[in-house]
Formats: sequence, C-alpha cells, structure tokens
Amino acid sequence: GNGILGMIMNITISGNGILGMIINLKISGNGILGIIMNITMDGYQCVSSLKKKQFMKDLHFDDLLVFAPNTDLHDNVLYQQGDIILQDKASCIPAHVLCPPLGSHVIDTCAAPGNKTSHLASIINNTGKIYAFDLDTKRIGTMGNLTAKAGVMNTQLFNQDFLKTNPTDNKFQKVEYILVDPSCTGSGIVNRNDHLMGAQGITKARLRSLSSFQVMILKHAMEFPNLKRVVYSTCSVHREENEDVVAEVLKCNKNFALKTVMPSWTHRGLEGTDVGKHCIRASANVDFTNGFFVALFERTEMKFEKQA
Ligand code: SAM
Repeated sequence: GNGILGMIMNITISGNGILGMIINLKISGNGILGIIMNITMDGYQCVSSLKKKQFMKDLHFDDLLVFAPNTDLHDNVLYQQGDIILQDKASCIPAHVLCPPLGSHVIDTCAAPGNKTSHLASIINNTGKIYAFDLDTKRIGTMGNLTAKAGVMNTQLFNQDFLKTNPTDNKFQKVEYILVDPSCTGSGIVNRNDHLMGAQGITKARLRSLSSFQVMILKHAMEFPNLKRVVYSTCSVHREENEDVVAEVLKCNKNFALKTVMPSWTHRGLEGTDVGKHCIRASANVDFTNGFFVALFERTEMKFEKQA
C-alpha cells in the first residue's frame, strides 16, 4: 500500500484468481521476467513445472512469489534496492504464523541476519515496535545494513544475549509476540547440489547442547509478562531440536499450550510424538523447501487486572 516496505513491491496482479495463482505480473523497470497465465494445473504440479524466467504467486502466502529453480535475482534491481527479500519459502512461515497485528510490540530473539525481522516489519507495516537480539556482532552489523535497505524503521537492534534480557524491563511491557528462531544444526538446509547439509557428522553431544539451549531460550521468552503468542522454528530435521524441544517446554510451562499451525498444511510434525500433529515440518521432497520445523504456543491463563 504505502510503498515503503514489503516482500513484494510494484507488482500488478490480475487474472481470474482460480487457485489464487493465475497471475499476470509485471515488475516495473527491468522487464526480464516472464508471465504465467491461464494455468489450470494442480498447484504443486505448477510449481514443479516452472521454467526459466517463470514465476507464480505462492500457494499459501500472498506476499511470496515462487521462481523457477536456479533463478538468480541477486543482481536484480529490486533485490539491490531492498524492494524484495530472497528467502526460502519455509523461512517465510514463522512470521506468518506469529501474525502480529498492526501496532504490535514484538521480540525477535535470534534475529541476524534479519530476514524474519524484515518480514515481521512488513506484516505490521512498520508500525509498533520490534526488538531484535543477536549475540553475533558481525551478523548484527549485516542485519543493520539489510534492514535499513529494506526500509525497516520500527526495529531496535540489540547486540546481546537474549537470555540476559530482563522480561520485566519497562520497555518490554507491551511485548505480546515473540519469534524464537535459534541456532540449530541447520541439518535441513539443502545445498545447491540438492544434498542435505550436515545431516551426518552431528554428534549426540552437539544435539544435546543445542536442544538444551533451544529449550532455555523458549522458556525465557515465556517469562515476558504480557506475552500472548510465541513461534518456535528451526531449519533442522532432528527430532531432538524440534518435537522434543516443544514437548520439554510444554512439560515445564503450564501457562502456554500448543496451537495447531496451518491446519491445511499436510506435512505435520513427526508421528509417534504427542506434539507432532500440532506442528509442521517442511522438506525438499514434499514441499520444495529446505527442511524446516514450526511450532506455535499461546498463553492459556487468563490475566485479570487487579482492581484499584
Ligand atoms: N532469524 C534469523 C533470520 O531469519 O535471518 C536467523 C537466525 S539464526 C538461525 C540463529 C541466530 O541466533 C544466529 O545469528 C546466532 O548468532 C543467534 N544467537 C545464538 N545464541 C543467541 C543468544 N543467546 N541470544 C541472541 N542471539 C543468539
């Protein structure tokens, strides 16, 4: 609407809307991209048959375009100017699931290099406030540049350990939404040769240490007094970093319950776990994405204001 920010800019969409993906799309200026029209195929068939220079609107998310494999937009003026953000579809899920309303105060606990923060800023249209934390000085420096380029103006960056934040600090009193996208093995990431990165060679000790950090960071997020909703995501395929983390947090924190993420998404969490059906997974062979996991917690307890 206002032209300051967004995953997609300056795009004209027309067509009959069947499947929500029949589009006539023009990206102003460069004219290099093709148009897909009058497609009557099943959605996923359509994604898999995209050819060079073709693209389509995503089947699930309105602010996402899907391009043919091996499309490189890094030199495109829209990317160079920060008008669009290049991100794997799975990585777009957490901000959509958190879905903060306009004007919200949000924390992104592990934010750098900032793609999900930018996406959140786009969803709340640069209103409200985002507090974004990251331990890594270099990554948060990159994040400062990328978010400025994307036109993000409602975000304060903190180069500090989120675990050391004080949930009762006055500045966080209006925080109702938190995104937890912590360090993980990255075992779901698919490299350019379509191999899973690092799925082998991850020791039990490394998994134990990461999953106990992931549990800690989620539990700390749940300490924020006015928190309503928290989304947890990883790009790991390991149960220890996904369903097991969620189960452990639920066991220790009775004020939050799991909500069912995107009920229409058929690729659910692992069967044989109590939490699996509420969570979603994504993968290259089923969803054409990196391996990914998303869970959503919401506060259950009703909070009553004390009478004066
Ligand atoms: N959410 C980011 C995005 O979409 O661009 C990616 C985050 S990456 C998976 C995890 C990040 O967590 C790393 O940048 C790492 O430096 C940061 N991190 C690890 N431990 C942290 C802590 N205790 N507090 C804050 N950030 C932390």
